Amino acid sequence: MPERKIPITGHTEMFGLIATPIRHSMSPTLHNAAFEKLGMDKVYLVFEVGKEGLEKTVEGLRAMGVRGYNVSMPNKAAVMQYLDKISTASELCGSVNTVINDDGVLTGTITDGVGWMQSVASEGCDVIGKKITLLGAGGAATAILVQAALDGVAEISLFNRDDEFWQRAVEKTELVRSKTNCRVNLYHLEDREQLRKEISESYLLVNATSAGMKPQEDICLVDEDMLRPELIVSDVVYNPMVTKLLATAEKAGCKTIGGLSMMMYQGAESFRLWTGEEMPVDYCREKLGL
Ligand code: NAD
Repeated sequence: MPERKIPITGHTEMFGLIATPIRHSMSPTLHNAAFEKLGMDKVYLVFEVGKEGLEKTVEGLRAMGVRGYNVSMPNKAAVMQYLDKISTASELCGSVNTVINDDGVLTGTITDGVGWMQSVASEGCDVIGKKITLLGAGGAATAILVQAALDGVAEISLFNRDDEFWQRAVEKTELVRSKTNCRVNLYHLEDREQLRKEISESYLLVNATSAGMKPQEDICLVDEDMLRPELIVSDVVYNPMVTKLLATAEKAGCKTIGGLSMMMYQGAESFRLWTGEEMPVDYCREKLGL
């Protein structure tokens, strides 16, 4: 933990994260590094709160005038009922990761999708008006699906395996189709020829499943011969930083984008919504040792 140079005083403003289990989170290091760098008299703390204590916590933070906080599992959907306003992205995702308190009026939004869009843009890649292939239908994938569609990606081919997330994939693709101008296709991940075809027509491929993350680090959902050097390959997994997919894509000559960048930019977006300032992303990355 970096040493705090700005003393805590009666003016120090508090931000935080409510979730459980959450002590391992990198968010406090990220936000506190940004506050420190920008000379802001603010502090970001973690509170282990599950669904049971959630309502009282939200009301307590509102009463205390806390300007903003993050929400993570298991509270991302449950918190919505206690808020006053919900962003379009959060409504479509059914999930909130950021709460902004404007003089007692609580707005919930989700920054994961914005974070992913910014991570791609920061690498000089422009997905707007293009077709992408998206693997997954869980929390991360839904956030990307929704934000990409809202921002103007022309077509998204979503693949998921036949598991407990399949029904969610059906519902979310229908919802996004009905609420945006994006063309959304849904396929079974088991259909390898369809996967090959959709990737061959895509500007970018993104893995937003937990395949590739420890302990599934030996799994890569695509074959090397499905990739071509012009394809951009993004993975939301950041543990390990270079997943089997990214290593395979590098071998195939593709430009690759790792999950850490999305993690940084989703935090940066929360930071911007609370403070109106841009997070010094490069400095924070260094502070996190990344
Ligand atoms: P989730 O549990 O909501 O969804 C899991 C998804 O992975 C589902 O679509 C499921 O079908 C799929 N899946 C799991 N194992 C699979 C396998 N072996 N083969 C095919 N599909 C498989 O999880 P989530 O919250 O969406 O997180 C997914 C990954 O994204 C995790 O590794 C998480 O760490 C990462 N993540 C990264 C960021 C970031 O900022 N970079 C943000 C959120 C999540």
